[in-house]
Amino acid sequence: MSRIAYVNGRYFAWRDAKVHVEDRGFQFADSVYEVCEVRGGRLIDARRHLERLIRSLDALAIRMPMPAAALGVVLREVVARNRIDYGIVYLQISRGVARRDPAFPADSVTPTVVVTARPLNRARNAALAETGIAVISVPDNRWGRVDIKTTGLLPNVLARQAGLDRGARDAWFIDQDDAVTEGASSNAWIVTADGVLVTRPADHAILRGITRTVVLDVVKAQGLAVEERRFTLDEAYRAREAFATSASQIVMPVVKIDGRVIGDGRPGAVARALRREFHRHAEAG
Ligand code: PLP
Repeated sequence: MSRIAYVNGRYFAWRDAKVHVEDRGFQFADSVYEVCEVRGGRLIDARRHLERLIRSLDALAIRMPMPAAALGVVLREVVARNRIDYGIVYLQISRGVARRDPAFPADSVTPTVVVTARPLNRARNAALAETGIAVISVPDNRWGRVDIKTTGLLPNVLARQAGLDRGARDAWFIDQDDAVTEGASSNAWIVTADGVLVTRPADHAILRGITRTVVLDVVKAQGLAVEERRFTLDEAYRAREAFATSASQIVMPVVKIDGRVIGDGRPGAVARALRREFHRHAEAG
């Protein structure tokens, strides 16, 4: 749990950190967020996360409340004040506080900025990556702009919980054509029987994960065959390997989908190698 949180220009003890009851993030999910890995006390790929944050804000016409460099300073300060060596830092910006009305508020309303950070259990994550995780598939019933990283995450919440309720750790969304879009909080990948890596193109139907982008760099640097194309759930069942990517899990092998064993049921060589190599290609700062 974060001990110190940043809210609108000030640092608070976690129990005292509050936003207004009429914050539009709270009322309408009219807000965007980023999650960045912290490793050795340094932010991983902060530049790319902040660039994506700006794209999300622009898409929703929410004003960037301070320059990206200043936000970077706040992120690092929250990490430092919470003494995070390995964990995540969370940044949320909402359109601000106004009387409840779906229409945008006056320009004078300033966006709300919140930053928290918390440690992750490195040994637990490593152990999970050693065994791999199970996921279930669920219909993708989200809106058409999930490339914007908004806090409107109810379908993701319900998907994740459905996975947990069925003894899995996560859920993969499936579109109307039976193609996998992405995980409830990760991007989805497979390795075909011929050894080709496949992940869905970053269109409006998935979030363009920062981890996904860096993994594509690793894949190219290693000369592995990769295709950015749609793949069906059936292809995923028959894949040699499957894995998920996200800032908090990096590369997480998936060894079961809907109870069906993927490959030999153990984390595959490609996923393991990508997980090993990832931080050579990511930016730490
Ligand atoms: N897709 C969804 C829906 C996510 O919520 C996330 C991360 O939270 C990702 C993909 C992976 O994005 P990133 O690699 O930037 O963490």
